[in-house]
Amino acid sequence: MTPYLLLTPGPLTTSAAVKNAMMRDVSTWDVDYNAIVEQFRKDLLEVAQVDATRYAAVLLQGSGSYAVEATIGTALPADGCLMIAVNGAYGRRMCEMCDILGIKSVAITFDETTPVDLATCEQALMAHPEVTHFAVVHCETTTGILNPIQTLIPAMHRRGLITIVDAMSSFAGIPIHTDALHIDYLISSANKCLQGVPGFAFVIARRRVIEATSGNARSLSLDLFDQLQTMDAHHGKWRFTSPTHVVLAAAEAMRELQDEGGVAARNQRYRDNQRRLAEGMRRLGFDLIIAAQDQGPIITSFEYPTANFDFAEFYDQLKARGFVIYPGKVAKIASFRIGNIGAVYPADIDRLLESIAQVMATLV
Ligand SMILES: *Cc1c(COP(=O)(O)O)cnc(C)c1O
Repeated sequence: MTPYLLLTPGPLTTSAAVKNAMMRDVSTWDVDYNAIVEQFRKDLLEVAQVDATRYAAVLLQGSGSYAVEATIGTALPADGCLMIAVNGAYGRRMCEMCDILGIKSVAITFDETTPVDLATCEQALMAHPEVTHFAVVHCETTTGILNPIQTLIPAMHRRGLITIVDAMSSFAGIPIHTDALHIDYLISSANKCLQGVPGFAFVIARRRVIEATSGNARSLSLDLFDQLQTMDAHHGKWRFTSPTHVVLAAAEAMRELQDEGGVAARNQRYRDNQRRLAEGMRRLGFDLIIAAQDQGPIITSFEYPTANFDFAEFYDQLKARGFVIYPGKVAKIASFRIGNIGAVYPADIDRLLESIAQVMATLV
């Protein structure tokens, strides 16, 4: 396999230092390793802009969906009901989780190219007084659209609901004032904007809220409450095997985030990448699917330029030139996606655009 730059939203391109951090075997019982876990949990709280007395970071083995499922399955009591605002595949996945877990849910569905709208959610809430919790995806990676959590979450909190935000693809790439917005559960994973490798996910949870969820979980492995109890009581020990190498990589990735200047600086780089990409692609004749005011800096969806556009050939030729992109996920529009998160810099975007121009010349 020839090496390539991953322009996909996780796994994504990581730095050499992050990969090298994994070249050690450590014991899960080693106090030095546990101290790395504890420091990492503290650093996560800082990224989430929360106070350690009010919030806790819970780490969980598996990909991001495991943490979403653990959060839903732990947060909702037997008589709870989750309202899910849906405008893409990750919102739909939460509905599926509720169905399988036997949790009552109300889906409020929007078009995939439209942001979630507060007034529509509030109206639905009046028809559904049984709703106790509210969940929304921040950046719907399906399209790259940003949902307005800054208006949605405080409003849902005012109505007495417990709030869950899937910030999988935005945490550490877009500043989020978790406490100020009244987010009770904020979910992300090691292999997105944190720029680590896949292997675990995490939830920033309001202590007062998660500490009231004992006995809720529908699963032993996905019991977020129990995982937090163990991590707290044993100072960074995980229940069950800890993904040690992945944690070492994540700790290094956290150092790199700090060295870069924190989330604000990383956000600026991603925005620069995205702007360069969008402008360059437009010049090459590609239209964006999401309107500029709703488009996030994480991933961009492009319409096929022609009805007979050969995406498989386009993909293969780009891969041969050192870039791997993503197929589209929008239901109604033939599209593909290009991510600009990870160890990816404006110069990489410029090289990508040159390669796309070359490939397009061979396709016509
Ligand atoms: C990546 C992602 C997830 C989790 O997907 P996994 O494949 O389980 O890691 C969930 N929500 C969003 C918005 C994502 O981008």
